[in-house]
Amino acid sequence: MSKSKSSESVKVVVRCRPMNERELAANFQSVVGVDVKLGQIVVRNPREASASEHPKVFTFDSVYDWNSKQIDLYDETFRPLVDSVLLGFNGTIFAYGQTGTGKTYTMEGVRDDIERRGVIPNSFEHVFTHISRSQNQQYLVRASYLEIYQEEIKDLLSKDQTRRLELRERPDTGVYVKDLSSFVTKSVREIERVMNVGNQNRSVGATNMNEHSSRSHAIFVITVECSELDDDGENHIRVGKLNLVDLAGSERQTKTGAQGERLKEATKINLSLSALGNVISSLVDGRSSHIPYRDSKLTRLLQDSLGGNARTVMVANIGPASYNVEETLTTLRYSNRAKNIKNKPHINEDPKDALLREFQEEIARLKEQLQKRSGRKKKRRGRRRDGSDGEDQENGEMEDEEEEDEDEDDKADYWREQQEKLERERKAIMEDHSLVAEGKVLLLKEKEKKMEDLKKEREAGEMLSAKVKAMESKLLVGGKNIVDHTNEQQKMLELRRQEIAEQKRREREMQQQMENRDEETLELKETYSSLHQEVDIKTKKLKKLFAKLQAVKAEIHDIQEAHINERQELEQTQNELTRDLKLKHLIIENFIPLEEKNKIVNRAYFDEEDEYWKIKPITRIEDDHQMMSRPLSAVGCRRPLSHYARMAMITRPEMRYKGENIMMLDLDLPARTTKEYQEPVIAPKVAAALESALKDEDEIQVDASGFHSRLGSAPPAGGSLKKPKSSRPRTGKKSSTPTSPYSPSSPGSPLYPQSRGLVPK
Ligand code: ADP
Ligand code: MG
Repeated sequence: MSKSKSSESVKVVVRCRPMNERELAANFQSVVGVDVKLGQIVVRNPREASASEHPKVFTFDSVYDWNSKQIDLYDETFRPLVDSVLLGFNGTIFAYGQTGTGKTYTMEGVRDDIERRGVIPNSFEHVFTHISRSQNQQYLVRASYLEIYQEEIKDLLSKDQTRRLELRERPDTGVYVKDLSSFVTKSVREIERVMNVGNQNRSVGATNMNEHSSRSHAIFVITVECSELDDDGENHIRVGKLNLVDLAGSERQTKTGAQGERLKEATKINLSLSALGNVISSLVDGRSSHIPYRDSKLTRLLQDSLGGNARTVMVANIGPASYNVEETLTTLRYSNRAKNIKNKPHINEDPKDALLREFQEEIARLKEQLQKRSGRKKKRRGRRRDGSDGEDQENGEMEDEEEEDEDEDDKADYWREQQEKLERERKAIMEDHSLVAEGKVLLLKEKEKKMEDLKKEREAGEMLSAKVKAMESKLLVGGKNIVDHTNEQQKMLELRRQEIAEQKRREREMQQQMENRDEETLELKETYSSLHQEVDIKTKKLKKLFAKLQAVKAEIHDIQEAHINERQELEQTQNELTRDLKLKHLIIENFIPLEEKNKIVNRAYFDEEDEYWKIKPITRIEDDHQMMSRPLSAVGCRRPLSHYARMAMITRPEMRYKGENIMMLDLDLPARTTKEYQEPVIAPKVAAALESALKDEDEIQVDASGFHSRLGSAPPAGGSLKKPKSSRPRTGKKSSTPTSPYSPSSPGSPLYPQSRGLVPK
């Protein structure tokens, strides 16, 4: 089914942005040199003395400096890729790099500015121009837009922005996003609108758009389906998919000091990018049989683009300023590795999930229905013309081809005719005096129903043809004004530009090859005219090789350091996660009953599709003894009932307990921890003394007459110095409490119990 091709490498280009105003103002040094002709990036290390330090050199498929134009990048690097998508290949463009180095500028750019718009808008133009120039082909273009943030996939075009989508895999079509919305677009303007909607949704909810975009991956997907008749008159469909990926910033998300949720967040943000790095590493090292695509959503989704059947271009964006040198080097190393990934692109011919085929089939079906209808109509009309009654008689046969050219006017005429006829008949009935009233009503009703049916049928027909039209309008065909002169000229211009780009590429390749040859030729010059010359040349050679050795050593050192750093960070993350896990274990061990724990453990299972643990819903499983059985309802009652309530319902006439749902349970009393009270043993002498003392007490009486007496009068004999706490009159209730130990008759004495106050010295 698919035409296989030989393998080709992932194309890697580097683009260095200009110094921004802030960097210029702060007088930062530029440490990046760009050799466009040779395709080389040279990075000097600003820290070390420039004399001793050899600059680091990286070679790529092509490089672009700060003066590069968007359209140059497009023509040289992206246009060939988009062209192959139009042929039915899958293609992917990644923008990789530190935040603020121009990933979004490269992908989107300034949309309203033709000069500064990026790959995405340029590809829109490219795709639709290509279609308009095509001949004898039918196209269907659709777009999707999604975002991966913290390992969650969000559909940027869906109405419900809170929903998270999942990845699914099918053996025939590979990994896809379940329920991802895609919009069929008919023009540049429409697809631009789709992108704008997605961009708006992307920024909604993000408090800081810069930060959000630097932590999430945005993927814009354009699917182009093309159908064409081959020489044998057979219809073939090719489907090309273009992924335009604006990756998260490649700088390390700081994990230092982060704990709990924040740590997890930082870990997750890094996950997709580090998984991408791991996939690249294991693809290029050639020894590993296992490629860890499944480690992250991004790598799973773009599996085809890395070592798969797609064509891939990676744009590494870097900044020139000295303070970014570490990140710049990391980016260059990362993308340098990616150069060695081999893909095996092939054309997707007649895939099962082509939407275009569905469209074509649906249109054919609808057309057939329409034809059937008009066939029926013609038949009826024909019969009527023959003098038959024109009754609707289904006979399923279709009339001949000539009906196809029945035009709109004809149709409208037919409907009008029918309606008028019915109207006439209705009037005739109304005016016919020979009929009985009842008969008239019946006949009228019948006619009315017929009119209604007629209307319905007409509407259905109209709807059908509208649907066909709508569907057909989505299928794009070109070749309408092929002879257009300007069109022709533009085409030539583009062709020339393409040629120039091609030439440039070849030139660069040749230069690179020459550089390599140079070294070889040096070795070949074995014959020396004199000893002196030999020494000279060999010294030169030695110097060159020594410089190379030093560069490699420095590189090894740098890479080792980077590895150590990465390992330390991973260890830190691991420690934090282990600590977290231990805490959870402790909580489970100490606070969750074993029985409950087992229940959960039994319900847990690993979902292979989503790759995480899930809990089965609680259902009654016959042989699951872990599950508690619910008490059964008492016979005749709606709910389980206690024995007590049941008895009460039977014996007592009242309504209480009739709908009760209370279980009678014995109170579970706590175990006693105190002893019985034991009276102290009192010596007989003391007891007698006490008894006599108590016997003398008179009954205390309260006399309310002293209520208004002045406060603060002399205390009664033997009394202590007492003062009422406040001058506020007490409530009557309190005053009736006969507890005052003082004589009630003494003037000015309080009526209430008082604290004894201070004991006088
Ligand atoms: P990223 O998406 O990598 O975080 P941006 O694309 O947002 O970075 O770029 C940051 C800033 O630098 C933007 O203001 C952008 O206009 C500017 N910029 C980036 N690359 C270029 C370039 N090649 N030429 C001019 N300006 C650029
Ligand atoms: Mg960005």
